[in-house]
Amino acid sequence: MPSYPNPISSKLPKVGTTIFTVMSKLAADYNAVNLSQGFPDFPVSPVLIDLVYKHMREGRNQYPPMAGVMALRERLALKMEHAYGVQYNPETEITITAGGTQAIFTAINALISEGDEVILFTPAYDCYAPAIELVGGKPVYVQLKANDYSIDWKQVKKVVSRHTKMILINSPHNPTGAIIGEKDIQELIKITKDNDIMILSDEVYEHIVFDGESHLSVAQYPELATRSLIVYSFGKTFHVTGWKTGYIVGPENLMHEFRKVHQFNVFTANAPIQYALADFMLYPDNYLHIGAEYQRRRNIFLDAVKASRFKIKQSKGTYFQLLDYSKISEEDDEEFAIKLTVEHKIASIPVSVFYHNPIQNKVLRFCFAKEEETLLRAGDILSKI
Ligand code: GLN
Repeated sequence: MPSYPNPISSKLPKVGTTIFTVMSKLAADYNAVNLSQGFPDFPVSPVLIDLVYKHMREGRNQYPPMAGVMALRERLALKMEHAYGVQYNPETEITITAGGTQAIFTAINALISEGDEVILFTPAYDCYAPAIELVGGKPVYVQLKANDYSIDWKQVKKVVSRHTKMILINSPHNPTGAIIGEKDIQELIKITKDNDIMILSDEVYEHIVFDGESHLSVAQYPELATRSLIVYSFGKTFHVTGWKTGYIVGPENLMHEFRKVHQFNVFTANAPIQYALADFMLYPDNYLHIGAEYQRRRNIFLDAVKASRFKIKQSKGTYFQLLDYSKISEEDDEEFAIKLTVEHKIASIPVSVFYHNPIQNKVLRFCFAKEEETLLRAGDILSKI
């Protein structure tokens, strides 16, 4: 096909292909152990698979309601009540989405206008800033503290302005595995007290928190909940990232605006999968223990790399572990990640891509949502580097 003959002014001139696609392709091309893009390599519950099949066979294959299958929204309202002690009305305050990324994109489209500022914490998951820029908003970056990736609230206070429309938080945090604590919540309450700043809270790893800590949701704090849209993911919780199904909760007035955009963005999400998830979620045992399960996998990975030359800061949540290679190489992390994939056959994600400005830390992100055998093989390779 000949090219489009006229100049194109790109809406995202600095954006290339997302690092997850780049690294997973490189891993496949070089037959490397793929700990780059975050997805489990172990099987999905056969019960869940059978439920999808059952609902397809029974004919639930046409458009579900725009906001999602009611039975599933009802289950999610119960989950929010059990997990966080807060009531969301399934009719008006919960919407099923085609994954967390769509929920984030749609929320930003619905709530952010030209010139609005959105505060983001770097390293930041890579879909946030482009969504803001596409609607003419301005991402305002605050770097997480270098030692433990906690939030520098002094810095946040400095950048809040009359244009600040939203603060986007993410806990458990991708890519660092950090989690927010009670002190962070209190700071957030203080900062949003006398203004109308909204919060978009990406909590897709809500159930994956380790070492006896628990996930704090903005839903648990009425001062925050009334101004927050909160994003969750079935992919992370049920090991089905490829099903691209998630959901978003929030007060009716914010959800009303969200749905105005959602209906024209994707209209709705996959029907049989929603019916199956509704049945599956009747048994909270199907998901409440995934934190312990992932902690076991994290520990296998940590154990497998403890004799290596990588420096480890133990992950507190998500299924990602950062490893610092400053004792091994002077190369920048993108170069080093490529070299590890091509020459050593292990793929990871260079963390610098999640910053908005060039950064010199030598850190790679590894996904440990993998079979024990995969983790041991990875540990073996990393110990020899
Ligand atoms: N959330 C996944 C990760 O952080 C990637 C999802 C994607 O590829 N877009 O690795």
